[in-house]
Parts: sequence; structure tokens; C-alpha cells
Amino acid sequence: TDGRGIFRVYSPEMGSKIRRYHYLLEEIRLAIASQNFTLSFQPIVNVDDCSIDYFESLVRWNHPVEGPISPAEFIPIAEDSNLIIELGNWILFEACRQMSAWHNAGMNKVRMSVNISGVQLKYLPIYDWVMDTLTKTGLPPSALLLEITESCLFHASEKIIQDLENLRKEGVLIAIDDFGTGFSSLSTLANLPVDVIKIDKLFIDQATINPKYEKILNSISGLGKTLNLKVVAEGVEVASQFELIKNLGIHCVQGYLISRPESSYDVGNKVIKNNLNHIAL
Ligand code: C2E
Ligand code: CA
Ligand code: CA
Ligand code: CA
Repeated sequence: TDGRGIFRVYSPEMGSKIRRYHYLLEEIRLAIASQNFTLSFQPIVNVDDCSIDYFESLVRWNHPVEGPISPAEFIPIAEDSNLIIELGNWILFEACRQMSAWHNAGMNKVRMSVNISGVQLKYLPIYDWVMDTLTKTGLPPSALLLEITESCLFHASEKIIQDLENLRKEGVLIAIDDFGTGFSSLSTLANLPVDVIKIDKLFIDQATINPKYEKILNSISGLGKTLNLKVVAEGVEVASQFELIKNLGIHCVQGYLISRPESSYDVGNKVIKNNLNHIAL
């Protein structure tokens, strides 16, 4: 205590964490204003023929002084400050605009997936916002997926669930992200407006090491079949994981084994210039 009975919770390390937080917060504000964010795209492919099902758009920030800063660090700060609303607006627009351009270039069987934060769900009229962006960019609703984490979906209000249902009626697909890290029970999953399950990387990492995790993957695969949901395995890095996933009847994979997230320029060179709907490994 500091002698007056007040327990001091500061430490020099905490001080520097707080300083970095406030520094990044201001830098995010500036980077939005000066359009310093970009998008990377990572393919999600079918296990049978490696045809591309969709690209996940992942935001990138190359800070002029700090260099690349991970979204795992800056997205939570953007969420706390509601800057994610403005940043997320740009992300959705840019992802849809890019896919619309790729469709026009012939890659027309491929969809685009965009991560949606719980803060956006809470404060935006999600149906109107998404439909408006689709109209402005000319992307058909059926070419868009929204990735929402399991815990956000689990805590979503009636109104949000209804908006997501209405988007699905237009053809937009909903993916439950980081599946396995939240608290959905089988019955909540059956009632959520969901088309795709993305199994968190943690399970993929464990599955080839720990037989219990292999059994969990097997039951998620079965769950997908029962509920008629497409199942995607995230973070597949090595061939043994790919083989296991294929043997378990999981439909799609995403991960460094197939491709890292890449710039639109590189996707254009690899995909558009080859046979348009496949990844050139
Ligand atoms: P996420 O949605 O679970 O995205 C998957 C993350 O796993 C991405 O990290 C991707 O680059 C990484 N990844 C993919 N394959 C592999 C692999 O084989 N090995 C490993 N080690 N990693 C792999 P990234 O791009 O750093 O994004 C981290 C998180 O930041 C995302 O996790 C998501 O929660 C958030 N995020 C990224 N972009 C956006 C965005 O545009 N909007 C929102 N709201 N959140 C975003
Ligand atoms: Ca995601
Ligand atoms: Ca994920
Ligand atoms: Ca994640």
C-alpha cells in the first residue's frame, strides 16, 4: 500500500502498456483518416480438389514508424474506442469492392468473407448496412460471408439474430468463427443463424498430437453433417493435419499449408492469371 491504505496497482510495465494503448488508439484514428490500412486475402479451399470456396479478408496495418502491427493487437483497441465502426465500414466496402472486381475478371465462383466485430453488431443496423454496401459495390449477396465469433453470436440480441436471418434470406452466408472457444451447446447452435462452422486453430494444432482432440474434431464434423453446416478447419500448417481433416470428412481448410494471406495484387497473379477458381500451389 502507499501508506494511506490505498493499494497501488501500477507497475512500470503496466505504465508502458497503458502508454502503448493510448499511443495506438491515436495512431488508429490517424490511420483511418489517412487510409493507411490494407486488406490481405487468404483462400479457404475444398479438401477434395483445392478449389477456392472463399477468401477471408484480413486487415493489415503497416505503421510508418512501428512497421506492421498485428490485428490481434489493434482490433481490440479499435473495438474499445468504437473506431471499429469506421474501420469496419471501410473493411466491408473494400472487401466487397475487391470481390466484385474479381468476379468481373472471371473468378465468379468464389465468395468473400469479412470478420464482423461484436461492437459492429451492437451499434450498426446490420441488415441495412450490409445490403447497402452490397448495392454500392455491385457484389451479389450470395457472394458474401460474414464471420462472427461464437461468443458474439451466443450473446447477440433478438434484433441482431433477426437481422442476420434476414441477411441469410437475401443469400448472405453466416460463419461462426473460432468455434469451440465459446459456450454454444448443441441446442443453441441449432437455433443460431449459421451456415458455416470455422473450427479454431487450437483444435487443429492438438488433433494430430492428442487423440481426444481428434475425437472432438470428429464430433464437430458429425455435428456439421447433422445440422447441414459446412465445416472449415482453420490454421492448417502441415500435411498430416490436412490428411486427418480430410479423413474426418471436414469439407474445407484454411492455413499456411495452402496459402498465407496475400495482397490483392498477389492473388490476382496467382489466381486470376491461372485458371480463375483454383489456387496455384
Ligand atoms: P481470425 O478471424 O481467427 O483469423 C485467422 C487468423 O489466423 C489470421 O490472423 C490468419 O492470418 C491466421 N492464420 C491463418 N492460417 C494460419 C496458419 O496456418 N497458421 C497460423 N499461425 N496462423 C494462421 P491475423 O490476420 O493476424 O488476424 C488475427 C485476428 O484479428 C483475426 O482472427 C480476427 O479476430 C482479427 N481480425 C483480422 N482482420 C480483421 C478484420 O478485418 N475485422 C475484424 N473485426 N477483425 C479482424
Ligand atoms: Ca475469421
Ligand atoms: Ca478464426
Ligand atoms: Ca481467431
